Amino acid sequence: MPSMSKRVSGFATTIFTEINELALQHGAVNLGQGRPDFDGPPEVIEAAERALRDGKHNQYPPGIGIAPLREAIAGHVSRFYGLEVDAGRGVIVTPGATVAVFTALMGLIDRGDEVIVIEPYFDSYVPNLVMLGATPVYVPLHPPEWTLDPDELRAAFTPHTRAILLNTPHNPTGRVFTQAELELIAGLCIEHDVTVISDEVYEHLTFDGALHTPIASLPGMFDHTVTVGSLGKTFSVTGWKTGWVYGPPALIEGVARAHQYITFSTHHPSQAAATVALNLPGSYFEEFQAMYTAKRDLLLGGLAGAGLKTRTPEGTYFLLADFSDVFDGDDLEFARHLTTDIGVACIPPTFFYSTEHAHMASTQARFAFCKSDTTLQEAARRLAALHR
Ligand code: GLN
Repeated sequence: MPSMSKRVSGFATTIFTEINELALQHGAVNLGQGRPDFDGPPEVIEAAERALRDGKHNQYPPGIGIAPLREAIAGHVSRFYGLEVDAGRGVIVTPGATVAVFTALMGLIDRGDEVIVIEPYFDSYVPNLVMLGATPVYVPLHPPEWTLDPDELRAAFTPHTRAILLNTPHNPTGRVFTQAELELIAGLCIEHDVTVISDEVYEHLTFDGALHTPIASLPGMFDHTVTVGSLGKTFSVTGWKTGWVYGPPALIEGVARAHQYITFSTHHPSQAAATVALNLPGSYFEEFQAMYTAKRDLLLGGLAGAGLKTRTPEGTYFLLADFSDVFDGDDLEFARHLTTDIGVACIPPTFFYSTEHAHMASTQARFAFCKSDTTLQEAARRLAALHR
């Protein structure tokens, strides 16, 4: 009998799909998947609409992305971080950031290489490494502040280490890596000649003055780093699946060779709209942060009212909450109980861990606050039932 490959036979349905289905079945307010329930900026939606009708954007674009968007990506990186990126040979547009990470790994990692993965990690990273035949080497962030242990990180580097997967601002903890942590990672990568694949899709979601620093901007790091970005998070259009990678031409050339045989090119009308989006004035990004700071505080209030312990996140639209004072059981049991009986869906974070370290998050739940205020208020009202 024909059957699936051994490569994928161990993969379960993603936790996002499982929780979405459960939420739908029970009419739960869904604070699980990071999926905004409001629309992106009208000028960006209108740009997409124009692109669909102008007769110039409905066929294949150039494989690496249209020139105006590659220039806008380079311009955005220069405007916010002062980094000089070659729009011709240093940028590739991809169908979303998840594909960007996979394509970068495909273009930069060989079978048998070790890749350092910081836990908790975004759920596609490790299956990506499995599909590539690379070996994940895990380094956990330690609760309650979700910090790196420098000695553990140092010990993870071996002569076989080819890359490290970094994600800052960090999903699911809501942490923004500090300058000291980035310098530690950078120093080790330079010492061991290791590439950083830096997933920075939440770059504009930082609060209370926390500053996002691309690791590529640290001294000597540009040539060691491929950075992944996303349109969906910053412009509330996650369904457009539009992302990019940028870095030094020598590394981007590897990513480009993989990209041409994975997707060849990316949805053309979205690229026209993405160009408009990335060129929006600074006020857009400031208002976006202010809007999300208020949403974060709304959710923090609701969770405190329900008796959950939280750490105030300084980045992303996620946070982790400790439920051990109000529920006896593990995180999957809690997520199922909350979705089914309380009517609020969340994500159990042990799915973002190796079995060895999963215990570190077994009393935590991830909540997303990329939701309208009405949704967050209704969630808070339902969550109050947990306390009783
Ligand atoms: N990045 C989003 C999250 O963490 C969505 C991920 C997905 O559905 N694959 O919720």
